[in-house]
Amino acid sequence: MASGKPFVIAIDGPAAAGKGTLAERLAAHYGLAYLDTGLLYRAIGRLMADRGFDLDDPVIAGQIAEALDPEDLTHPGLRGREAGEFASRVAVHPSVRSALVAFQRGFAGRAPGAVLDGRDIGTVICPDADVKIFVTASPEVRARRRTDELAAKGRDVDYERILAEVRERDARDSGRATAPLKAADDAVILDTSALDREGAFRAAVAIVDARR
Ligand code: C5P
Repeated sequence: MASGKPFVIAIDGPAAAGKGTLAERLAAHYGLAYLDTGLLYRAIGRLMADRGFDLDDPVIAGQIAEALDPEDLTHPGLRGREAGEFASRVAVHPSVRSALVAFQRGFAGRAPGAVLDGRDIGTVICPDADVKIFVTASPEVRARRRTDELAAKGRDVDYERILAEVRERDARDSGRATAPLKAADDAVILDTSALDREGAFRAAVAIVDARR
């Protein structure tokens, strides 16, 4: 990576599209820092639920977001489906989103650069990112991957239920008024429906290399 200005890769896309794995691998490949921005929203949702607050209350959610501590991102209950649901509910509040902007931009601005994954990285957080990739796959493929992942962990899961959750999360993330899930005009769309992890990684590296 050339010295000077941090090199920023923005990875956005719907739930269960494989963004996290891809973003983490790209960061390791290019020697960049990695931030899973979903964790910020998950931590806020989790803290509110643990403390018995109403997730739909924008004032309390905003206060929790303002007071978020990096330590909160290590909470053990952030990865699961429940935390994902909580996250997508608190993520609709403009008070929450604006409280997280400075932290994310600060992370992206440190040398040598970073890979951030989320929903609004290319559109709102880092509109000047060097590379923007919108990773997607059909809802059916995403639900199938998520079901298989959970089944591999020994969990008893129903594909139809997971598919309904994927669709519900898509609708909430795409339909909200503030920073909805959408590809930036200058993002490259990477549809991984017919790709395995390796294929998706190779395709993403080709996109990044073409822009370096
Ligand atoms: O990516 P992940 O599934 O961890 O995100 C959980 C939820 O957090 C998403 O469904 C979305 O509502 C919200 N989110 C967001 N903006 C981001 C990252 C996540 O609104 N940049």
